[in-house]
Amino acid sequence: MGDIFLKLKNELGEKLKRDEILAPYTTFKIGGPARYFYEANSEQDIINAVKIVKKLNITYYILGGGSNILISDSGFNGLIIKIGNNWIAIKDNKIKCGAGASLVKAARLSIANNLSGLEWSIGIQGATIGGAVKVNAEAFNSPMSNIVEIVSALNIKKNKFEIFDNKDCKFNYRQSIFKDNNNYIIWETELKLTKASSNKIKKLIKESINHRNKKYPKFPSAGSIFKNIPYEFFKKNSKELADKLLNAGIARLGNIGAGLIIEKARLKGKAIGGAKISLEHGNFIVNTGNATAENVIMLISIIKQKVRANYGIQLEEEIELVGF
Ligand SMILES: Cc1cc2nc3c(=O)[nH]c(=O)nc-3n(C[C@H](O)[C@H](O)[C@H](O)COP(=O)(O)OP(=O)(O)OC[C@H]3O[C@@H](n4cnc5c(N)ncnc54)[C@H](O)[C@@H]3O)c2cc1C
Repeated sequence: MGDIFLKLKNELGEKLKRDEILAPYTTFKIGGPARYFYEANSEQDIINAVKIVKKLNITYYILGGGSNILISDSGFNGLIIKIGNNWIAIKDNKIKCGAGASLVKAARLSIANNLSGLEWSIGIQGATIGGAVKVNAEAFNSPMSNIVEIVSALNIKKNKFEIFDNKDCKFNYRQSIFKDNNNYIIWETELKLTKASSNKIKKLIKESINHRNKKYPKFPSAGSIFKNIPYEFFKKNSKELADKLLNAGIARLGNIGAGLIIEKARLKGKAIGGAKISLEHGNFIVNTGNATAENVIMLISIIKQKVRANYGIQLEEEIELVGF
C-alpha cells in the first residue's frame, strides 16, 4: 500500500494526501477517508493524475463541490481527484470558468454585470460549474443547458482535451453526455448569458431566494435525494394512477414531484440516528449533527419501499452514492 502512495507521489508531488477525511468536502458533511486525495489545479495536473491512475490501475473519483453525493462511512478506497481550477472571467455577455469554479460565485458575477441566466442557482452553496454541467442542474425550469455554449473536457481514454458545443453535450433532464458515459472530465466551460435590466434580474433572484428560504432546510444536505418523474412518462405507464396523483395535487409543472410523493406517504420528519427526512421538503434528507451514511441509506430504503407500496412508483436516486 505504502508503495502505491510513493508511486503516486512520485508523479503527483507534495499535493498528494493520504487518508483525507471526505466529510468536509461534501455539503452533507458525511463520509469517511479517501485512501488518496489530490487536487488538480492545472491541465498538466489532471493529465498526470489520469495517466498515473490508469498505469497503476487505481480506482478514482472526480469530486466537484460534493453537493450531489453521499460518501460511505468507510470512505473511498482509491484516488479522489478534486477539481481545483476555479477561475472565472467575464467578457461581454459570456462567462468563462474553470470547472471547479463555484456556481454561486459565477452567478453573482453575472448579476453584477446585468447578465441573466444563472439567478436560479443563488442559494445552491457548494456546487461547482463542472458538477452543474454534468448533471444539467436546474431550478424554476431554467437548466444549465439553456446557457452552456462550449465545454472543454478531458477524454480519459485518449488523455486529450476535446471541445463540445451545446448540441454535443446531449443535455436532457438531469442528463448530459458527461453523465451518460464517464469518459470525460469537464475542465472549462463558456456560458452565454442575456443582458437584462437589473429590475428583472433582482425579481428573479428574489423569487429564487424566497423559494429556497421557505422550502429548503437549514441543516446540511445533498439537495434533492430522488429525481422527479415526468408526468407524461408516468401517464403512459399508469394513466389511472397518474390521474389519481393529479387529483391528489402530486403532479405539477409537468412532473410528479418526489418531495410531494414522500410528503403524501407521511414520511416527513422520520429520523434514523442523525439523519432525518426534512420537515420543510420531503425530498431532502438532512444531517442534524451526527448522521452517518448508513443512517441516510436506511432512510432512502424506507422511502423507496413505502412509496412503492403506496403508489407503485419506483423512485430513483438523483444523488450519487460513492464508495459503497
Ligand atoms: C441545498 C442544496 C440545494 C440544491 N438545489 C439544487 C437545485 O435547485 N437544482 C439542482 O439541479 N441541483 C441542486 N442541488 C444539487 C447539486 O448542487 C447540483 O447537482 C450540483 O450541480 C452538483 O455540483 P457539484 O460540483 O457539487 O458536484 P459533485 O456533487 O461534486 O458531483 C456530482 C457529479 O458530478 C461529477 N463531477 C463533478 N465535477 C466534475 C467535472 N469537472 N467533470 C466531470 N464530472 C464531474 C462527480 O463525479 C459526480 O458524478 C442542490 C444541492 C444542495 C446541497
